Amino acid sequence: MNNCRVCNEKLGKEELKLASPSVTSISENLNLETYIYLCRNCAHCQSPDLPDVTEYYDNNYKISLKTDDFDQLYETKGDTSIFRTEHQATLISELKFKKHSRVLDFGGGKATTLKKLLKKRNDINPFVFEVSRDYKESWDKWIPENNQATYTIPEKWHNTFDLLICNFVLEHVMRPTDILNLMYKLICPGGLLFFTVPNPLDNSGDLLVVDHLNKFTVSSIKQALINSDFNLEEVSDKKFRGAFTVVASKNNNKKQISLDCKKYEISSLERKISKWDSRFEEIKKIDKKNLNIAIYGAGFYGTLFYNFLKHKPNFFLDKSIHLNNKTHLGIPVLSPEKCPQNIDILLIGLNPEKAKSIFQLSNKWIPKNCKVIFVD
Ligand SMILES: [Zn+2]
Repeated sequence: MNNCRVCNEKLGKEELKLASPSVTSISENLNLETYIYLCRNCAHCQSPDLPDVTEYYDNNYKISLKTDDFDQLYETKGDTSIFRTEHQATLISELKFKKHSRVLDFGGGKATTLKKLLKKRNDINPFVFEVSRDYKESWDKWIPENNQATYTIPEKWHNTFDLLICNFVLEHVMRPTDILNLMYKLICPGGLLFFTVPNPLDNSGDLLVVDHLNKFTVSSIKQALINSDFNLEEVSDKKFRGAFTVVASKNNNKKQISLDCKKYEISSLERKISKWDSRFEEIKKIDKKNLNIAIYGAGFYGTLFYNFLKHKPNFFLDKSIHLNNKTHLGIPVLSPEKCPQNIDILLIGLNPEKAKSIFQLSNKWIPKNCKVIFVD
């Protein structure tokens, strides 16, 4: 890994190296070491390419494909669950784009966001592009065949889209600038680009996600847009928890893009990376032979912490009905209410920066003599 994926600056030594296994965004373990590099020119963080990344997304990466209604929960308001794609569709529907716009969902899997956008704006003309054919059956139910593309994009689509949406894709790609250049070609003059990427400063575990080859900051997003000739309309860390939402446009009224938050972002990243190093040392110290351990959370953080435990846990506990009564890494996943009373240690496998506000110590199901450990 020699150069920054965004600004092409030569990179120094890695900031952090972790032994195998590494954890993916869908909480799988891969037999790889984890490396984090930081570009001090544009404040971009990055990890090495996955071996055969193209094959990985074509055949292995089946997010939201298991069932038709599977979606990641974004938040709950009272009794209402708001899913990630619903929130994305709401943000996109607030943008200004004309009636009967041609809208391309770029790398959106089943394109659920676009489907939900269509419910809010039934005048739009939907198109999809993916680097896999896995989703075709699902698309065929509502997207005309001529509006679907897999692996390559037809030349005649160039310069035709009023709006291109791309949710949680750019963090996975080896050459984000090439992808943004392609998007620029696809959008018509005056058209808009909307994309989302994780915000590693808000959710610092993202720095360790092995298939997130790019860990963007405001500065590196701006640098990437400058490289591809886009105008920046808005970059926000407030509209989507744990992520940046970005609106860019293709037109000639170029505005100056300022990179004034670069220094602050670089020092924050340095701090967050070194904090992870000390957290792992803490987890390794949980050396309690013959005690029963459960990890609360069978997602990314639970998996990450599992990898650093000397003695493997008896159970994972997780609120998600999609995970309950299954196994994760060969270990049973129970709903928290079913936590066995003989659990001695409960390790909280949530984002350390938010765990104490998410996890309630007053939960009635926590066994009486159980020690609850937060990873600070
Ligand atoms: Zn850079």
